[in-house]
Amino acid sequence: MKCLQVIRPGDLRSGDPEKKGLMEIRELPEPQITSPTEVKIKVAYCAICASDPHVAQNIFGREAPYGMGHEISGVIVDMGSGVNTKGLRIGDKVAGNFLRACGRCYHCQNGHPEFCTNAIDEGKAPGYAEYVVWDESQVWKIPDDMPLRKACLLEPTSIAVRVTDRAELMVGQRVAIQGGGPIGLLCAQMLKMRGATDLTVIEPRADRRAFALKFGADHVIDPTRTDVVEECARLTGGLGYDVVIEITGVPSIATIPLKIAADGGTVMYIAMYDDGFAMSVPMTDTFHNRNLTLRATKVAPFCFPRAVQILSRMQLDDFMPVSFPLDEIDRAFEAFFTGDYLKVLVNCNEDLRDL
Ligand SMILES: [Zn+2]
Ligand SMILES: [Zn+2]
Repeated sequence: MKCLQVIRPGDLRSGDPEKKGLMEIRELPEPQITSPTEVKIKVAYCAICASDPHVAQNIFGREAPYGMGHEISGVIVDMGSGVNTKGLRIGDKVAGNFLRACGRCYHCQNGHPEFCTNAIDEGKAPGYAEYVVWDESQVWKIPDDMPLRKACLLEPTSIAVRVTDRAELMVGQRVAIQGGGPIGLLCAQMLKMRGATDLTVIEPRADRRAFALKFGADHVIDPTRTDVVEECARLTGGLGYDVVIEITGVPSIATIPLKIAADGGTVMYIAMYDDGFAMSVPMTDTFHNRNLTLRATKVAPFCFPRAVQILSRMQLDDFMPVSFPLDEIDRAFEAFFTGDYLKVLVNCNEDLRDL
């Protein structure tokens, strides 16, 4: 089968041909079911995630060549004899959780499968491929009438569920989101449903600010034209935001969320930052005087059942305007890097394109 492989890890956008990350589509053996609880999925779509370029830079220290891709949808084509907990059938449209936690290690048993020490992830079962084999526990049936190009957004939706859980938002609290990319906009939709007020999205791109307003933001700020800290103070009557989410990963603005949070508020750092970036925080002011809580998330443990429930209520139509066949993966990433599309999808099997 065809499968994307990172041949030489590196920056996919580097102008230096010696250092640029290299990927190619290679012919690999089709993965086969090796345990009774496994499900083989013919992949329809794998969406490009902002974390993919970081994976291509090999932040996880894999041995090249290796695969990647984790936001998939597809159709079940085979399953083991022991698949029996969710009513899955061959032919079902599915999406799910790329992270296969073992369920037995200390962290899994301690309620934190995100830290599983035996996890199988996209490195071993990459999504930019014609087929993946996942465990039944990772696989979720999606409604028959939902197009597979939408269903691949289940994984990013699960991240928004996780962020919303961790934000512990109370109805009526003020929320700001720094970064109007796909995760920021999914979080905006979800936090709005959860009762956020003065929902403010800080985003330099006009098209993404327009999406933010469409998805329920009360205010948007263009940080290239407006002093963000002053504007946030004005919008909140000087009080600041109870919950601030940072999802840009841009080092130069990493401390802004601390400045626009309300006293006693929660600041969540969701993005990935360049390796080695360290943020300087005024300790006494941030923690003693203002009692801020800093939080993070890592993948989306225990969120998929609820992500499946909420998926059809999310406004996703603007998220998948373009797709490229797997063979044109380089063009797909070029399109992704323009920032002109909320999501860029990779179609891994032509016959599932319109299902
Ligand atoms: Zn992702
Ligand atoms: Zn484990």
